[in-house]
Parts: sequence; C-alpha cells; structure tokens
Amino acid sequence: MANTYEYINISPNGGGQKASLRFAQIPLQGTSDTLEVSGKKFLNGDLKMRDDSYDVAQICLNGHIINFSVNEYPQFNKKFCDKCGAATITNCINCNSEIQGEYCAEGFIGISHYTAPAFCPNCGKPYPWIEARTQSAHDLAQELENISEDDKEILTQSINEIVKDSPKTTLAATRFKKILSKTSKPIVDAFRDILIDIVSETAKKLLWP
Ligand SMILES: [Zn+2]
Ligand SMILES: [Zn+2]
Repeated sequence: MANTYEYINISPNGGGQKASLRFAQIPLQGTSDTLEVSGKKFLNGDLKMRDDSYDVAQICLNGHIINFSVNEYPQFNKKFCDKCGAATITNCINCNSEIQGEYCAEGFIGISHYTAPAFCPNCGKPYPWIEARTQSAHDLAQELENISEDDKEILTQSINEIVKDSPKTTLAATRFKKILSKTSKPIVDAFRDILIDIVSETAKKLLWP
C-alpha cells in the first residue's frame, strides 16, 4: 500500500475555502486508521476512489461558491446564498449546461482550490456573477464627475475587455488605468473592489500587481 494514492474530497463545508495543496501525491499508510493532510485528519472510511471527472458546482448569482461537489455532497447545497441572500444556480442560465465543479481524480489526494469560473465553456456567455460586477462597474463609470463622456465610453468598453483574456486585454487595461488616473483614490479603490475578483490574470498584473 505504500505507493497507493487515493483521492480525498474535502467536504466543502460552507464552500469556497481554499487550501494550499492541490492534488499533491501523498502515499497512504495502508495500516493506519487515519491519514493526516495539512493538519487535518481523515478516517480511512472517508477516502474514496474516484473516476477522473469534474463534479458540478453550485454558486450564488453574486459568485459565492456554495458547493463545488454537488454530486458528491448534495447535503451542502443551499437554495439561497448564506453570504448575500442571492439565489444559487448549478447550471448556466443561458444554455443550461452544468457549472463545472471540483475535479475528481483517481490516484490523487486533492484539497480544493476551486474558484468560480467566469465564462460558460458550453455557450461562451459570462456567468451571472461576472455580469453583475461588470454592470456595477459600468454604473460607477457613469457616475463619475470631471471626466468626459468620451472617457466614460472608453472606460465602459475597457471594463468589458479586462474581465477576459483576449488580444485586447492589455490595451484595455492601459486605457482603464489612464482614465482612472484622472479620478481620485476612492474612485480607483471602488473600481478595484468591484473588479479585482473577476479581471483576467493579464489585466490583474497590469492594474493591481
Ligand atoms: Zn452570495
Ligand atoms: Zn452556457
């Protein structure tokens, strides 16, 4: 048993918590009743052999992860989000395909590092949590004083581009930064709060390294 690896699905109690380890290969002690991973103890009975596949995720409309293993742990599902009260979904509201959840790999121990996806891989539409934040940023852009209507328009378009990784992202991030430099720090901070969780990695490096 020394070289046996198994997958542990850490129960997503409350959902969304992150751990430092993902699919690390740790040999199981076949004779032991418990296994310790990052200070957490698991009974051998908790260990499950899994097929390599993705589970389904349940996420609230504002992007809070409720349950990243809906099939494995349906008991953690919630009708409404306990952080913001919004309704929860397990399927794309545009094409109804399931939201990809935690990866379940046979032969590995996994501690979840799940983050909510931005776009539906089946229809390409942004998920509601991306749309909600993008809309908030648009609304804030419209509220700005002391910047021209043209700048507001450019800012709005830039917001649409920095939430995705595309050939336009770098240009959009540069324009976004340039226009925000004409505003005040509280405004810059407000945009940061709205967008930091949804901007693409490329944009994040440029805007908030
Ligand atoms: Zn929520
Ligand atoms: Zn879809």
